[in-house]
Amino acid sequence: MEPCRIGVYVCNCGTNVARVVDCDAVAAALGAVADVVVARSYQYMCSNPGQEMIQQDIREHGLTRVVVAACSPRMHEPTFRRAVAGAGLNPYLLEMANVREHCSWVHDDRAAATEKAVSLGRAAIRRVRHHEPLETRTVPMCEATLVLGGGIAGLTAALQLADADQPVFLVEREAWLGGNVARLDLTAPHLDSARDLLIDRISRVRAHRHIEVLQQTRLVRLEGYAGNFMATVQTNGERPRPLGVGSVIVCTGYQPFDARRIEEFGYGRLPGVVTSLELERMLRAGAVVTPSGRLPRNVAIVHCVGSRSERFHGYCSRVCCMTALKFDHEIRAALPEARVLDLYIDMHAFGKGCEDFYRRSAELKTVFLMYAKGTTPLVTAAGPGDECALLIAVTDVLSGEAVEIPADLVVLMVGMEARDDADDVARLVNISRDKDGWFIESHPKLDPVATTTDGVFIAGACQAPKDIPDSVAQARAAAARVLARIARGHLTVDAVCADVDDALCCGCLVCQGVCPYVAMTTDPDSHRSRVIPALCKGCGTCVAACPSGAITGRQFTDRQILAQIEGVLEWGSNRESSGCSATGARTPAPTSPAPVA
Ligand code: SF4
Ligand code: SF4
Ligand code: SF4
Repeated sequence: MEPCRIGVYVCNCGTNVARVVDCDAVAAALGAVADVVVARSYQYMCSNPGQEMIQQDIREHGLTRVVVAACSPRMHEPTFRRAVAGAGLNPYLLEMANVREHCSWVHDDRAAATEKAVSLGRAAIRRVRHHEPLETRTVPMCEATLVLGGGIAGLTAALQLADADQPVFLVEREAWLGGNVARLDLTAPHLDSARDLLIDRISRVRAHRHIEVLQQTRLVRLEGYAGNFMATVQTNGERPRPLGVGSVIVCTGYQPFDARRIEEFGYGRLPGVVTSLELERMLRAGAVVTPSGRLPRNVAIVHCVGSRSERFHGYCSRVCCMTALKFDHEIRAALPEARVLDLYIDMHAFGKGCEDFYRRSAELKTVFLMYAKGTTPLVTAAGPGDECALLIAVTDVLSGEAVEIPADLVVLMVGMEARDDADDVARLVNISRDKDGWFIESHPKLDPVATTTDGVFIAGACQAPKDIPDSVAQARAAAARVLARIARGHLTVDAVCADVDDALCCGCLVCQGVCPYVAMTTDPDSHRSRVIPALCKGCGTCVAACPSGAITGRQFTDRQILAQIEGVLEWGSNRESSGCSATGARTPAPTSPAPVA
């Protein structure tokens, strides 16, 4: 049997771990465990010097296994696998212990947190002894991409892919392209025309030899796996059509909040109460008028309609404040005599150039009135003696006074919400939605356009409320991810997946019913279940469900899991014996430079 020589690396994460966990003590305790040849506490393990330290130790000490006690493996397991592989060790001979999220982030008691970190480290050491070298596989990559949605994000993604000479199917359920941006007049904060932004993109998309535009078309089925999907689409009144694609970029956008849901505003009941999109239509037509055709003398713009509210959506829709300021400019230009009043909760002006835009809007003599979060201004019809059509009852937060504001036109800044068909799309492409219905990204900071389904990307406001620059940036990012995969020509499939033992499988198909990633199929010859490695996420559901014990989760074998549990249960002991060769020497920590990565 190969001697087991384990290196253990305890990460301080600056003070992120070290603030609560005594990392030096953890390294000392783990350094005394059998088979551990070297144990170090280091400031930033994921930094380049941290990774180089591991690689140097692998070479100098002949390490055969590595344990990194740091953050969640979800964060940096790929980093450390690459580091280990860079020193010639199989990348799957690594195990991580999560002493950040599971210790320092959830405990205050330093002694107890340190003891728990030692325990998790021991469990990782016990487990890594049973790791075996695994080999990744590759699958070919189909170059065509399905882009779902023909709004600004979909158009941008399609063009970026097609300009790189890659084939694109752009599927749009409506009979036109442009999505919600096509409903806008000018855009904030530069007051440039939304039409100009779209027109060039739409005409280029329509003329592009690498893009096939399918309007009034829906995705009805998506089968296969990253690099090799078979999408079935259906155009209104036509037969379903199969499309072979390697990747899918979902850009299905948002729908505007239905203002009828807030009774107090009287939308749909009181003439003169309009939504922001209806005002956009008036501005595009060049006539801002009341329902009776008169020029309004008083225009009130109400922010946060359906957003930042416990009754409806708790989130900020991100574009409404700047769109309201844009209306101030446009109304001022169209109706120089009109008085414009902005009723807002807080002014969110975080985008580039937006704070400056806010300052310029204040110079327009727009009146700003702050109302309290959690309250709703009440809009009613004015009486015969009033010189206006509508009255708004609201409490001014700054003065504390209840006031009644005259208005001829009340503009409701309706927020963004997930589309009614978002659940259908999510099910079709096998991605998840958050509590507000938006599609969930793989990682909110580090992987914002990928999803948990490999090969399916998201971009634009289907992921969360977003303005045009952010939607365009995400679309370009998603297209760049797809292009990088196409350039490689193949996809690497993680070696951690399930494995069926034909000799034990009875063909009951239980595993196929429970697999959340549809990664199980039936072998046509043996009639036994078979794993599709490109789809399998190694979640282990089938392993637990198989009544015959025919399925093994690679890297999650019973032996590995039981050894890990034994390590956790071995509370209080500081030395054990495995029968493997061990020196037990602990190497002192070197000085820690600042992180590079
Ligand atoms: S993020 Fe880097 S520095 Fe922080 S715990 Fe993870 S490996 Fe260590
Ligand atoms: S559950 Fe187990 S026995 Fe049943 S088909 Fe799947 S692998 Fe075979
Ligand atoms: S491990 Fe999970 S993803 Fe893989 S086949 Fe089993 S149930 Fe499906």
